[in-house]
Order: sequence, then structure tokens, then C-alpha cells
Amino acid sequence: MQFTPLEDIPKIRESLRNVFHSGKTKPVAFRQEKLKQMGYLVQENKQALLDALKSDLGRPYLESDVLELVPTVNDIKYTHDNVHKWARSESAPFQFASSSMRPKVMKEPKGTVLAIIPYNYPLFLSFTPLMAAIAAGNTVLLKPSELAPATSQLLAELIPKYLGDDIVRVVLGAVEETTKLLELQWDHIAYTGSQRVARIVSAAAAKHLIPVTLELGGKNPVIIDPKSDLRLAARRIWWGKLVNAGQICVSPDYVLVPREVQDQLITEINLVHSEFFPEGPAESDSFGRIATTNHTQRIAGLIKETKGDIIIGGDVNLGKRYVAPTLVSNPSAEEPLMQEEIFGPVLPVVPVENVDEAIAFVNARQHPLVLYVFSQDSSFKAKVAAQTQSGAFAANELLLHVAAYGLPFGGTGPSGSGQVRGKYGFDTFTHLRGCIDQPGWIDTALLWRRYPPYNTWNQRVLAWITGDMFSDSKASRWWAWAWMAAIAAGFTMWSLSMSR
Ligand code: NAD
Repeated sequence: MQFTPLEDIPKIRESLRNVFHSGKTKPVAFRQEKLKQMGYLVQENKQALLDALKSDLGRPYLESDVLELVPTVNDIKYTHDNVHKWARSESAPFQFASSSMRPKVMKEPKGTVLAIIPYNYPLFLSFTPLMAAIAAGNTVLLKPSELAPATSQLLAELIPKYLGDDIVRVVLGAVEETTKLLELQWDHIAYTGSQRVARIVSAAAAKHLIPVTLELGGKNPVIIDPKSDLRLAARRIWWGKLVNAGQICVSPDYVLVPREVQDQLITEINLVHSEFFPEGPAESDSFGRIATTNHTQRIAGLIKETKGDIIIGGDVNLGKRYVAPTLVSNPSAEEPLMQEEIFGPVLPVVPVENVDEAIAFVNARQHPLVLYVFSQDSSFKAKVAAQTQSGAFAANELLLHVAAYGLPFGGTGPSGSGQVRGKYGFDTFTHLRGCIDQPGWIDTALLWRRYPPYNTWNQRVLAWITGDMFSDSKASRWWAWAWMAAIAAGFTMWSLSMSR
């Protein structure tokens, strides 16, 4: 992958700003056309994209197709079909005192957006902020990950072909190029990636007071109800852990299981494991690889240092970037496996006495991006939801909340802030511009009283007409409204008669 020359970066940003200021991206029909082209880009280059993802992540085609390409096109289509409604200006709620100004909210693009992308879902995570920012009428600089070189390179070739070379520009690079980008002024930065780099991005953005949206990760717990269907839980949890070899921000990170059913859950996971990989995971076409040797080494370190029992897997082949699906029972809460985001195919199972201990365990740590619960008991699910905080809450299913139509996606606290997806993403990249247009006659009718020289009588009338009030009595509120309406009608009639 050839990186973008550093000296080109300020010029690229300048050209994106100039295109934005030309007004080209503002018509909704233009935005819809670009969204349609994004859809065609993915549809018409499906095999090339699947091959690039395979080369970057060793990922099975089924996973790339169903969990990356399909959701990308679905989201683009949803955005394309709805952007005309989202972009419409909205009238403010009626209030008598301000109604003459006809207040409305204009939906305006923020300008030029910088989108920084991680390696693990390089297509979906590039198009998510891209489609939302274009739908909102912005120009975009996309910085895909150097750790997914085949997909990033392909995007750099396809984007100008389908979207033209002026409203979206791709910068290829790593730390140095991103650092250069972060020295510049942007109208919004959408960052998806690790908490470590999010701190760097936030600090750089603060220098220019740039608004930032952070889509981050963390440790996502799974809480098990001892009465739940453990076979179902085992199958879904093990699948959710092993998709993309565990390199998903919404992967289950660890399981909190009541001690009384811990052995049963482990037995079920063992059974599921042999069903998923009858020939062994290393030989299977249904299990991916780790993106880089460094990450493989990092995960190998977590396995090596564990004080828990390795029940399944544990083997690593650095050269092949292979980490076996690994189940660890009874790790210590202090070891690295339980301290940092795993982002690999290793699942610790931590025994707890009951749901209260599980909730306390979760609440003693950072708010996760998603909290999973397995239970068929609605009061159990409601209790976990009510007593915890997380970006999303999913009962009896893994990962698929991301695919649920129309839901917001994002973290809370250290797992992220803001959203870049769908309508919520459109709103992120949109400035809500409050607008009024006051007619001249309102001065004659009423507002001439605001001008000096001031007097007490004008003060009282203006405060009475424009001010709201708390009142316990419904009747007195109605009287106040009736009075105001009568006075306004009187003034209007008087001013009309004067103007004849
Ligand atoms: P990363 O933070 O290492 O890299 C993300 C981007 O930041 C890349 O484009 C990279 O070039 C750039 N970058 C890296 N180091 C930098 C530096 N020092 N200065 C400036 N820029 C730098 O993340 P990653 O390893 O690619 O992705 C994994 C992380 O992303 C995980 O923590 C995961 O949970 C998170 N993630 C979150 C979401 C979400 O939507 N919430 C989605 C996917 C991944």
C-alpha cells in the first residue's frame, strides 16, 4: 500500500473545503445520487472486496458477505431512501409569543469531515460515517486503516471511480499521516478505534475546538441466568466470540456465570466447539485470522499470563497469525486478560454467586459498549438492564443488535460518545441552525414597547405577554392565555385600522 505523501495532506483538505464552499454537496438529489453510487460500488465489486477482506483478515467469505457487505448496502439504501425526510427543515413548536417570527430549524451540513477508521471491519466502518456525512451534505476525508492494506487500497481506487474525486478523498497512511491530518482544522472528526488513540484524537481536536464523535471499544460482559437455556447461550456466545476471530468491538469479552452452572456451560461450549470445527479450527474454512503479527503476539501474551484454566485451545501460530479459539475458566480479576479489551478469540468465564455479584462486577468497571444477558425471565433481564449502564443492551443474542433496523449504535463514557450510523449519524454531521424571520408590523402592534426610553408600564406588558409561568391551577393558566390572546387581537386590529 502506497501512503499519501505528507505534503499533499493540507492541499487535499483545502480542496475538500473549497468544494464544500462551492455549495455542490447541498442539494438533496446530489447526495442521493452519491449514496446510490456507494451502493453500486459495493454491489459491483463484491468479489474484489471479499478477496481483499480475506487477504487482510483471513476471514471466511460468509462472514464478510453477511456481516460486512450486506449491512453496508442495507445502511446505504436506508440512508438513500430517507435522507430527503431527514434533511427537511422543521418548524419549532408553537408558542404564542414567538409565533410571529416563524421559527424553524434548518438542517445544514457542518462542512468537511475527517473520518478515521480501524482495521477490523474496514469496509462497513468506512462507509458508516461516509454515507452519513455525505447524506448530511458534507465533504469527507477518509483515513482507512494501514492494518487492512488490501481493503484500504481497494477503497482508495474505487471511491474516486464511483463518487468522483472531489467530495470524498482517501488518505492512505498510518500514525504519521493521521498525526498530520490531526494538525488541521476540520468541521467534525469521526473516530472509530481504540481508547488509546481516542485520547490522542480528542487532544488534537481540542486545540481547534473540533467536535468529535468517538466509536470505541472495551470489555463487553455476558451475564448468565442460571435458569436460562445454556445450550442456546453456549452456541450463540461461542459464535459471537469467534466471528472475525474475536476482532469486533461488540464481541463478548467475558462471561459471568453462576457457580452452580459453570461446569454445565463449559460442557455445552465444548460440544458446540466440536460441532463448529469437526476438523479442528486451524484446518477450518470457517475461522478467521488475526490482522497482524503484533496483535497475535499481544493475544498470545494474554493467554500465556493467565492464571485461569485453559479448557479449549490456547495454541498460537505467530507466522500464520493464528490464535486458536480459547476458553479460559476462573481467570484472576487482576490479570491482563481481565483488564484490557481482548479483541481476539479468547473467552474468559468468571464464576459469580448470583446476579447481584455479576451486576456489581460490571458496575465496578468502565461502561461497556454492549452488555449481553442470557435469560428467559423478563424480571431477570429488566433487573440487569435497570441496574447497569452500557452503549447497548442485548438479551439472548450476540452481535446482531448492530443489524437491528433504525437503532442507534454507540458507546457511553469510555466506550464512546455520539453516533455515526443511520439517522443518528446524519444528525451528528448536521448543524441544527435555528432561524427566524420577523415581520415589520409586529413592532407597530406590540414590540415597539421594547425600545428606549423604557418605562415600568412597558416592562410589565412585555413581561406579561412574553413570559411563561408556573401555576398549579389550570383555570388561572387558561385565564392568562385568554388575556394574552385578547390583548394581541386588540393590538393587531388597532394596528390594521391605523395602517388603512
Ligand atoms: P486503532 O486505534 O489502533 O487505530 C484506528 C485508527 O487510528 C487507524 O486508522 C490508525 O491509523 C489510527 N492511529 C493509530 N495510532 C495512531 C496514533 N498514534 N495517532 C493517530 N492515529 C493513529 O484501532 P484498531 O486497532 O484499528 O481497532 C481496534 C479498536 O477499535 C478496538 O478497541 C475496537 O473495540 C475499536 N472499534 C470500535 C468500533 C465501534 O464502532 N465502537 C468498531 C470497530 C473497532
